[in-house]
Amino acid sequence: MITGSADAELPRVIGELPRAAARRLGAKAAVIAGDRGIGFDELDDLANRFANALAGIGAAPGDRIGIFLRNIAEYPIAYFGIAKAGAVSVHIPLRFAEAEFDYALRRIPLAALVLEDSMTQQIGWAARHLPSSRIIQVGAEAAAPSFADLVAGANADAPAIAVAEDSAGLILFTSGTTGYPKGALQPHYGRCLSAQVGIADFGLTDADVLAVASPLYHAAGLLTWFQSGVAAGACAVLLPTWDPATFMEAVQRYRITGAFAVPTQLAMLLRHPGFDASRLRTLRIVVYGGAPSDPRLIEELARALPEARLVQNYGMTEIGPLFSQGPEDRRVNPSALGRPNATLEVELFAEPGRPAAIGEPGEIATRGRHLMLGYYGDEQATREFFRSGDGWGWTGDLGMRDENGMITLVGRTRDTIISGAVNIYPSELERVAKQHPGVADCAAFGLPDDIWGELPAIAVVLKPGAPMQEADLLALFEETIARFKRPRQVFFVESLPYTIAGKLQRAELRKQLGEKTRPAEGAKP
Ligand code: AMP
Repeated sequence: MITGSADAELPRVIGELPRAAARRLGAKAAVIAGDRGIGFDELDDLANRFANALAGIGAAPGDRIGIFLRNIAEYPIAYFGIAKAGAVSVHIPLRFAEAEFDYALRRIPLAALVLEDSMTQQIGWAARHLPSSRIIQVGAEAAAPSFADLVAGANADAPAIAVAEDSAGLILFTSGTTGYPKGALQPHYGRCLSAQVGIADFGLTDADVLAVASPLYHAAGLLTWFQSGVAAGACAVLLPTWDPATFMEAVQRYRITGAFAVPTQLAMLLRHPGFDASRLRTLRIVVYGGAPSDPRLIEELARALPEARLVQNYGMTEIGPLFSQGPEDRRVNPSALGRPNATLEVELFAEPGRPAAIGEPGEIATRGRHLMLGYYGDEQATREFFRSGDGWGWTGDLGMRDENGMITLVGRTRDTIISGAVNIYPSELERVAKQHPGVADCAAFGLPDDIWGELPAIAVVLKPGAPMQEADLLALFEETIARFKRPRQVFFVESLPYTIAGKLQRAELRKQLGEKTRPAEGAKP
């Protein structure tokens, strides 16, 4: 084991990350994907070749190159290759439907696109935007130009292209919990800073073997987890699809030491009939985040994996990882997000220009080179994100700081239920409902009301076999929170709508349940 990787000077542009690791670690395993193992020197060599191949098909520095792949070996090769070519990788979510794909490619024109030969339908979509000579196929049945042939036929020398630290290296789409997806343009150096934050907050080293079970087209999977691992010199085991059985098998087979999971994945793992903690004994770190997690779920995980360090991470596509919370802080305040990484400037603002006092809700804002450059081709949305005009990026999340500097999430600005001009944070209601032993999951939201603007409501998923009446739950609210915050309606539902990244789609829930709404009773907060 070579230690001290977290202290090593990190590269300042993305394409340097595999090269720096290769210089230090040579042929040590960088990526395992299916039956294929790739060392750091080979990863660097293949990325150079892909960069040169791009130039060969006429792609120039600054061009945008799409990646539309599962978590397979060609993903990191294409990603680092595009960065080395001075081009911008555009990470297209696999879940994109035809209309979203068309929308994205109309707004963000591509010079080439890498996708899998089995994606016949998507190859058809791509053909509407690109000539076939720019559609690069991966796989045994790949039509020309095939990824394998391009790489095999290209020169392995590092391209002689100077890439500026603050230039755009990649575009990631935001989750799209509201409206259409926006492409967040990410600077090279900012994302190298994120890797540094990841190494420090998670304590990654080159002795680690990491399960990459979150999609690489999402910021958490690609930047917070995978890229931090490459920078640390860890080995990444890429899992093309998420399922608990495959995950447990991979942990055992590759002696995986670290995993990142969104709370939904953790719940699926713990509830899986074949869950067997003894198969996960090699895990020394589990990072979770991307969406609020139920402290009871994390407690359950901590009991199942007593040797593993559980670290919560809070971040955002536009800014990378920002806060983290280890077990020591979790014991003090299980519902907190954690603390900001010390290298990043963070503030909670109660009002523009006025930082929130301890215990007062404020919007989480952050400033510095880790922020995105803007939303590609969307000046208005960019202005809204940087709305104060002085460099702060506004998350739309409302946090509260305690006397120990720990931050708790109290809601999102746009999720806030506004009833009679008073703000109600959904998480306040959800925390109460989750105290009920029959509640498996829940989400609070506002129902439109002619008089009050909105009235709080809650959708509840019951644990299997748990008997419960609406009145039981309302009694719990009566005991615990102010009258105006109590839900006027309780909806018992089979499941809640989450995105693939584990994010609750509150707008979708409101739409689904709004139609079932009966006139609100007792609308007298
Ligand atoms: P995305 O850009 O898709 O990663 O979504 C970012 C948003 O996810 C943040 O603004 C938060 O609202 C939410 N989020 C991320 N991490 C956490 C976390 N650990 N706990 C609660 N919410 C989170």
